Amino acid sequence: MRGLVWLRRDLRVHDQPALTTACEECDEIIPLFVFDEPLLQSKEFGSACVNFMLGCLDELQASLAALGLPLQWRRGCQVDEVVRAALEWEVDAVYWNRDYEPRALLRDRAVQERLAREGIAAKTLKDHVVFEAEEVRGATGEPMQRYGAYRARWWAKWHAIKPTVRPVPDPSMTTRKAVRLSPSPLPTAKELGYEHLVPWITPGEGHAREQLRWFIEGPIHRYADGRNRPAIDGSSKLSPHLRFGTISPRVAVHAALESLSHKGPVSRTDVLTWIDELIWREFFHQVLAAFPHVVDRPFRQTAVPPSRDPGLERDVLFQAWCSGRTGYPIVDAGMRQLNQTGWMHNRVRMIVASFLIKDLRIDWQSGERYFMHHLLDADLAANNGNWQWCASTGTDSMPGYRIFNPALQSKKFDPDGVYIRRYVPELAYVAAKSIHEPHLMTPEEQIRAQCRIGTDYPSPVVDHQLAREEYLNLGKQEVTR
Ligand SMILES: Cc1cc2nc3c(=O)[nH]c(=O)nc-3n(C[C@H](O)[C@H](O)[C@H](O)COP(=O)(O)OP(=O)(O)OC[C@H]3O[C@@H](n4cnc5c(N)ncnc54)[C@H](O)[C@@H]3O)c2cc1C
Repeated sequence: MRGLVWLRRDLRVHDQPALTTACEECDEIIPLFVFDEPLLQSKEFGSACVNFMLGCLDELQASLAALGLPLQWRRGCQVDEVVRAALEWEVDAVYWNRDYEPRALLRDRAVQERLAREGIAAKTLKDHVVFEAEEVRGATGEPMQRYGAYRARWWAKWHAIKPTVRPVPDPSMTTRKAVRLSPSPLPTAKELGYEHLVPWITPGEGHAREQLRWFIEGPIHRYADGRNRPAIDGSSKLSPHLRFGTISPRVAVHAALESLSHKGPVSRTDVLTWIDELIWREFFHQVLAAFPHVVDRPFRQTAVPPSRDPGLERDVLFQAWCSGRTGYPIVDAGMRQLNQTGWMHNRVRMIVASFLIKDLRIDWQSGERYFMHHLLDADLAANNGNWQWCASTGTDSMPGYRIFNPALQSKKFDPDGVYIRRYVPELAYVAAKSIHEPHLMTPEEQIRAQCRIGTDYPSPVVDHQLAREEYLNLGKQEVTR
């Protein structure tokens, strides 16, 4: 039997269900990746993400070559290309790991139907999450809408099943399964229509495993506090790896739990707090699978203040936010970190999102799209779920009346302004007491800090207190309508 393994967001050989199952069931195996031409053309994802993916593929190609399995790739409409490859190489079955995005579900159904018409089997496996939407349901089998309840059921399921991790297939077995097809060099970012960049987080399975090891050996045991401090390496930075599947979520959870038996200081509370974040990731995937309307609409229709009308004022404010020139240092540092590196600290993501939606009153979908285009970890489920949370329209949403005060947030989480100074060099010489609100510096202080407000660094584009009051008043009007 000959099998085609269609690789998508699972770019690794460890704990790789589609690859392992194909190895168990087939005498011959061909691994395939398809560059999705319409998606490339749409520019939904930016250069950072595309370069990261290419880096992961590069390493995957080498890992598969070590197993004797040359990676094949194609470029075009994924449905057409997979079916064409299956016919051309006369395979009996196509294996892939499931994806839960509405668009991916439609695509996979189309591939399945066309393969069935050709008499080719399609075998799909669970991979991207520990538990799929149907596996963690409420008491009457309904999809879950509250994280707390979902989390409790997720853990019950974990203890009942104890999901296992699959090893890398044995090369002495896989080399015998290779089909004589020559490998071809992967396309460059430029050939795909994107700018060449060196990703800020190293791509590939090897780095994902190293990064996990680094995190498990230290920072995880200080995570509950460390994750809120943008100036330090307090979180795992595994999000792009989980996004592209260079590490499996099962491996991550097992590694975290095993770290509790390490010698040296360990903290159960911190480890469980980190696993909570992985469960949030799964929660948002099940929300997307069960409530696909969230892609275009709020999860729930709540009375939230209307967004600012389209027009020049809105565009100027949005541009200031995108480029990190709002006059609010923590917001500007976050947006510049995103623009420069393709990653942003979680606490700062919440601050910039609240600022866009509640201070600037710009629709959350504009922020969501901007993040999607710039993030290395751009993921529909997590991005949409979090933006809806910040907009107070989501599942366990931030209460509508809660509006982050950017200055208070940065005083609390970046007290000396170390993070701010890293990304907003104009503020490098501003004293710690003024770094969170530099527009309050006297003219003499501005001279000493070599930073003239309004010239070297922008004045605040809105007054937070006034913007907050306006937002709350508009909110009251919505409720009484
Ligand atoms: C407005 C906004 C947009 C976001 N967009 C994305 C996105 O497109 N892709 C993405 O992966 N995360 C997104 N997040 C969630 C979170 O910010 C990142 O997952 C996290 O910062 C990644 O850093 P880390 O790997 O060091 O996380 P860690 O703190 O080490 O957490 C471990 C893993 O858990 C998952 N995770 C952590 N926090 C969350 C969360 N709040 N929601 C869902 N999963 C989470 C991630 O996979 C992460 O890698 C967004 C958050 C906000 C507020």
